[in-house]
Amino acid sequence: EPVVELVDVTRAYEDGATVEALSGVSLALAEGSYTAVMGPSGSGKSTLLNLVGGLDTPTAGAVRLDGRDLAALSEDERARVRGRTVGFVFQTFNLMPRLTAVENVALPLVFQGWSRADRRERAEALLTEVGLGDRLDHRPTELSGGQRQRVAIARALAADPALLLADEPTGNVDTETGERIMALFEELHEAGNTILLVTHERHIAEHADRIVHVRDGEIERVETVAERVGGA
Ligand code: ADP
Ligand code: ADP
Repeated sequence: EPVVELVDVTRAYEDGATVEALSGVSLALAEGSYTAVMGPSGSGKSTLLNLVGGLDTPTAGAVRLDGRDLAALSEDERARVRGRTVGFVFQTFNLMPRLTAVENVALPLVFQGWSRADRRERAEALLTEVGLGDRLDHRPTELSGGQRQRVAIARALAADPALLLADEPTGNVDTETGERIMALFEELHEAGNTILLVTHERHIAEHADRIVHVRDGEIERVETVAERVGGA
């Protein structure tokens, strides 16, 4: 069974006229898969990501996250499933400015009922894993863009989610830092994480195993990325 499955999903907005941000989209993310979504601005990428992550619900069709039909759940239940199942990484990092790296990473675990000591231990381990073991007590303003994004990735992983969703994770860092972020995603993929990544950039999308091309709210084609040969 896939981690998440969209079945003939439509998301329409009433905006004077009806705008279909997505029309009849079906997509399944198998456990351990690494998928990139590409498409021009306004093609429906954010809408797709929000539906996959349970932040939004479809106007037609079904979204099954971790085996549950999200439409059958209340907003509270949906938030709970989301908290347990999905880790989000954003272009703008979305860290809490007054909290240290450890406190930012530990925050989702507060809502999962973890003890203070266990939260600290888990956050330290994750930050060490993303190469920030020497920046545990720094605040976001004391970190570079790439370091901030690594804190955000560690936070997304805190509750051990079934699915990692990233919206333009390299959009606010320089090219070299972006490549390092992508190398980290590759490690997470190799460790068995299921990843969905939205990007405008072809060279970023090519890190995934397949690229879903979206245009005018529809999946235009699904491309399998050729096996990379050697290092790069
Ligand atoms: P991106 O392509 O990175 O998702 P955009 O700038 O296209 O960024 O969109 C940012 C957000 O603004 C989207 O999540 C979308 O919901 C909203 N948005 C984009 N275009 C429109 C629009 N024409 N009308 C209303 N909301 C929009
Ligand atoms: P992308 O992320 O690829 O830029 P979006 O998913 O943000 O695309 O938007 C897809 C389409 O849906 C666009 O035409 C956008 O104008 C429209 N749209 C997105 N959000 C809203 C909204 N809140 N209200 C009205 N239209 C929206």
